[in-house]
Amino acid sequence: MNTPEQINPHAEGDKGKAICASCNAIVPTTFLRRDVPFSDKSGKVANLLVSVCDICGATVAIPAQSVPAIKKARESKP
Ligand SMILES: [Zn+2]
Repeated sequence: MNTPEQINPHAEGDKGKAICASCNAIVPTTFLRRDVPFSDKSGKVANLLVSVCDICGATVAIPAQSVPAIKKARESKP
């Protein structure tokens, strides 16, 4: 499946807008690489490209292009 994100992926430093749960508002965001923990806290994905709130620094979104990296990190987990 070819989504626009796969054709034209985000890069580190790209700007965007997203809803931040911490700020409870639509905020400017920046794509940055971070270590992101799994939702079940069983490990983390190193150096994952995510969308970060410019106001409070929270991770507000994980772009679709980063999802395969999460799956890969989970599968390679000992
Ligand atoms: Zn925020």
